[in-house]
Amino acid sequence: MKSTVDLRRLDNAHVWHPFTPMLEHCREETPVIVAGEGFDLIDSDGRRYLDGISSLWCNVHGHRVREIDQAIRDQLDQIAHSTLLGLAGAPSIELAEELVKRVPDGLAHVFYSDNGSTAVEAALKIAYQYYRQRGSRQEQRDLFISLAGAYHGDTVGSVSVGGIDLFHGTYGGLLFQTVRVPSPSAYRLPSGLTADSHRAYCESELERVIAEHAGRIAGFVIEPLVQGAAGILVQPPGWLRLVREVTQAHDILLIADEVATGFGRTGTLLACEQENVCPDLLCLSKGLTGGYLPLAATLATREVFDAFLAEPAEGKTFYHGHTYTGNPLGCAAALASLALFEKNNVLDNVRDNAARLARRLTELRSHPHVGDIRQKGIMVGIELVLNRQRQTAFPAEARMGHRVALAARRRGVVIRPLGDVVVLMPAPAMPGPLVERLCTKAFEAIDEALASR
Ligand code: PMP
Repeated sequence: MKSTVDLRRLDNAHVWHPFTPMLEHCREETPVIVAGEGFDLIDSDGRRYLDGISSLWCNVHGHRVREIDQAIRDQLDQIAHSTLLGLAGAPSIELAEELVKRVPDGLAHVFYSDNGSTAVEAALKIAYQYYRQRGSRQEQRDLFISLAGAYHGDTVGSVSVGGIDLFHGTYGGLLFQTVRVPSPSAYRLPSGLTADSHRAYCESELERVIAEHAGRIAGFVIEPLVQGAAGILVQPPGWLRLVREVTQAHDILLIADEVATGFGRTGTLLACEQENVCPDLLCLSKGLTGGYLPLAATLATREVFDAFLAEPAEGKTFYHGHTYTGNPLGCAAALASLALFEKNNVLDNVRDNAARLARRLTELRSHPHVGDIRQKGIMVGIELVLNRQRQTAFPAEARMGHRVALAARRRGVVIRPLGDVVVLMPAPAMPGPLVERLCTKAFEAIDEALASR
């Protein structure tokens, strides 16, 4: 293998990293990961790092898990890839059956793609097409609703329903029109509102906006229970149920984006379960393969699927699909990952670790620069602020969140912030003592970064 110096030189010369200011990246000595073991990542110098963000929120059972490795090897002995356009494949059939068993009743059809953005993109196009060709009540609906500050991916459709200015602002001219409702998560409240009155305001805005545009809205896209990349914004109990009731009352498709929340992170396999909600379309990716391979699924109800059932000449086909749709290696990994959820009682582990995290986070409650601590299951966001009383942010140039990540890395832990929100996202199967270490090192890193500013 090449030396670390050579690898870094070539990385800086040729690799364009995602979501990364490249000048800063080239200045910093970024670890080059060459291996993984359990919940550790290992770099080209042999240093180990605890994977504190589940390799960007996707790893579930750890790295180099015997059962998943073996399932991929076994599949490799059969075939690595063949297309689902005009052919079927055994692993994608078996995975569809297993997914349908585990998702809310009513979701019965699985459309595969490769990543979270394409799972959302497919859902948007399915919803748009659905109204044009369902039964006798065909309509031209062209609007989508999403929550303020939403993140649903990086393709043009998923960016259109997104609302993070830093990521999405540049592309305004490329996007289609969408409608926003305020996010009910309550840290920085509009002036004059309390947590309760803010919630009432969000509810009335939800109903007003939907009623105003009802006949034009094709879908409401939402991350159930917690908006992840928006800053781990936790919704009040009952919000998702309310969104389901209002969308149902106005005959609007509910698109649940469980790319981040799915596969255990909120305490249940899917977040929707906690409010007994069945969406019309459900987007899955990230943890679907246990964090091993790029695979996504958009699940649809029978009613949605039926609008596409017609003879070829009727023009109702869903003309969408990617080369690697339903990739057999990805599906084999996903099947092995789902089996491990049950075999290893992963959801019990999530609940234990959620309680452990809640306990540890109390250590930060009176920290002068911790403005807010948000947690749902094992998804944690710690918002750092300059002034706690006034909720003032640090200047962006201070790169506080980034500094915390660098300090954590020096302590052998990988975390990645969202701006100044320090995110902890242990894998659902991470053992308790490692979650303790993650907290200890992350809290030390917060103190070091604050002391050095
Ligand atoms: N939706 C949500 C809720 C996400 O968190 C993400 C990724 N962080 C995406 C969609 C996009 O997924 P991908 O990066 O795999 O395209």
